[in-house]
Amino acid sequence: MNTAEITELKALLSEPKRIVVIGHKNPDGDAIGSTLGLSTYLKKLGHNVRVIVPNDYPKFLKWMPGNEDILKFETHSDNCGTLLKKAHLVFTLDFNALHRLGPEMEAVLDKLDCPFVMIDHHQQPDDYARFTYSDASMGSTSEMVYHFMKMMGHLQLLDAQIATNLYVGIMTDSGSFRFPATTSTTHRVVADLIDHGAQNSDIHRAVYDNNSENRMQLLGKALNNLRVLPEQRTAYISLSQQELDACDFKKGDTEGFVNYALSIENVVLAAIFIESEKDEIIKISLRSKGDFSVNEVAREHFEGGGHINAAGGKSTRNMADTITYFISILPSYQNALLNA
Ligand code: 5GP
Ligand code: MN
Repeated sequence: MNTAEITELKALLSEPKRIVVIGHKNPDGDAIGSTLGLSTYLKKLGHNVRVIVPNDYPKFLKWMPGNEDILKFETHSDNCGTLLKKAHLVFTLDFNALHRLGPEMEAVLDKLDCPFVMIDHHQQPDDYARFTYSDASMGSTSEMVYHFMKMMGHLQLLDAQIATNLYVGIMTDSGSFRFPATTSTTHRVVADLIDHGAQNSDIHRAVYDNNSENRMQLLGKALNNLRVLPEQRTAYISLSQQELDACDFKKGDTEGFVNYALSIENVVLAAIFIESEKDEIIKISLRSKGDFSVNEVAREHFEGGGHINAAGGKSTRNMADTITYFISILPSYQNALLNA
């Protein structure tokens, strides 16, 4: 966003508006953290603000301050549709293409005339927004919300509720501050969040230390299904619908499993394939180390996208064929894999 756009947005926000803040489908810690953080800030400016996400999200995010006010389009489409049609301004956070909302919600957004503001850290943003704050070097959208408040000249409005939400987003998207996009600036932002009331240790515990026994059993199955392809420096995990059912799978249970594959010595590319009978797809998460771009792999082969080191997509083949296909494309990345 350039100075003129910031000035224009400041003018738009100088009078009370009806605002909707939106996160992507299958919201993660950064989607929920950034939308709740931003909405709390906008409310403090005197606006009427609602957060809408397309569908449900994991239990380990449901303690976050403001969680109870989040509307799910999936179960409240009429109410959400009305709010969207009446909105003066729509903020879209942690995604940069409207199809990431799913077809039903995308169709409603497509028909709106009000200006959109995008705040996002994925590569190659679409151009639907009147104001685009896009920065792929950022580790999280939540960190960008902090910088956005600063750009607006409103950091003095930072409070414990905003700080807690932004902390969750930064922590989860950075793998607890270890992924390469974590900078000294990230740590300075986080320090300021802690100074404003984010209880860092309690937050970590609330997000990560509430495993169910079923989830641990599922992790056991995932690790049992782990395969390593040393020549390609690749490891992958699969989970069938049957295995998920046997462990009473709940949303979010497989979060982070793919990182076990990536943690293997010499491995630079990791994948997890998760069957969804309901959606008739295999959901794929890809992770990498160094310069190897899983965003490219997801875009070229699995109708998806993401970042250089974390991306996702899907396959309409069955599990066995999806894995065979995945293995078949690896030779075309051989050099990149060896040099990552
Ligand atoms: P995850 O593997 O944790 O679901 O997602 C990792 C990253 O890839 C996230 O930044 C997410 O936004 C992106 N991503 C995951 N699935 C998809 C998808 O189906 N399409 C696109 N474009 N991006 C995805
Ligand atoms: Mn994010």
